[in-house]
Amino acid sequence: MNKKDYYEVLGVSKNASDEEIKRAFRRLAKQYHPDINKEPGAEEKFKEIGEAYAVLSDPQKRSQYDQFGHAAFDANAQNGFSGFDASDIDLSEILRAAFGESFGGFGGFADFFGGGSNSSHVKKGRDTLLRVDLTFLEAAFGIDKEFSLTLNETCNECHGKGGFDEEICSTCNGRGTVITEQRSIFGIIQSQSTCPKCHGKGKSYKKSCSKCMGTGQMKVKKTINIHIPEGVDSGYQLRISGKGEAGINGGPNGDIYIECVVKPSNFYERDGQDLFIEVPITFTQAALGCKIEIPTIYGNVIMEIKPGTQNNAKYKLKGKGLKVPNSLRKGDMYVIINVITPSKLSKEQKKLFEQLAQTDLENENIFKEFKKNLK
Ligand SMILES: [Zn+2]
Ligand SMILES: [Zn+2]
Repeated sequence: MNKKDYYEVLGVSKNASDEEIKRAFRRLAKQYHPDINKEPGAEEKFKEIGEAYAVLSDPQKRSQYDQFGHAAFDANAQNGFSGFDASDIDLSEILRAAFGESFGGFGGFADFFGGGSNSSHVKKGRDTLLRVDLTFLEAAFGIDKEFSLTLNETCNECHGKGGFDEEICSTCNGRGTVITEQRSIFGIIQSQSTCPKCHGKGKSYKKSCSKCMGTGQMKVKKTINIHIPEGVDSGYQLRISGKGEAGINGGPNGDIYIECVVKPSNFYERDGQDLFIEVPITFTQAALGCKIEIPTIYGNVIMEIKPGTQNNAKYKLKGKGLKVPNSLRKGDMYVIINVITPSKLSKEQKKLFEQLAQTDLENENIFKEFKKNLK
């Protein structure tokens, strides 16, 4: 059977970061999980997504897949890899890894996303998104940042209940709804609405909590410290699981997402984890070759320019790019040579260039070649 490309399955590019892969998986898993999506084929699709994520979220499997494609995991192939088979994948374990501890497993899936059951009014707390501005170098080398924010937290006086001495709501007798009757010209109209006293909980408290005014939550100023890993780019998100707003009626807390906004460098062009820098050299340096000092983000390195280097020649400095966040991989740095033709010559220089021109056989050859191509 022809298998689809794992990157394609998750809809990410080949050089997607771990975080991007996780985000894509989370989005698709919510869309296709059989507890939520009852359309035919959803389960197959869900398994496909799970398999793709199982491979791409594991650095070792990912690099095997990058090298050998699906053959890397083909049990019949003689490639020396083993111990991985699509049918071995524990989807619930993968889901737990991708969604964090608050995810209760397969059965809890619909509850977790609020998609299926309406057994209670338990709700996950709201997620909070914060943006952090980083300089190019802060993003390159990582940094510890402190944030202050105000969050709704569970009231520590009443533990989120909103009051003390629980009793069945006398207004609705525990049903959570009340029936009201209205007389109109059509007769008596009955309508059902949420109980105004208990707000649908079916229970109330003899004594309301004064600290949170009965809401069960209170605003709390918090400071959080977070380490931004090396190599992040704009759009990179960090998730602090379960540290967001308090859940409702005992639901899990929301998450805090921190999104990076990285200022471009004045010095380097950035493309993913690769860096580019343009370096000017003189005419004679290009012709005779030379050694030049190149500033990389890890310090200066001496680079050898070969004799006869052309304008726009590209030199690669391996591993001198940015780190891939939370990984050992690094991008590269590319040095683009910009050969400067002198625009002003001293008398002596002019004489030397003229002498050079007389000896310049190569020029003639270039010209012949050019004319030949014109025919
Ligand atoms: Zn009530
Ligand atoms: Zn309270």
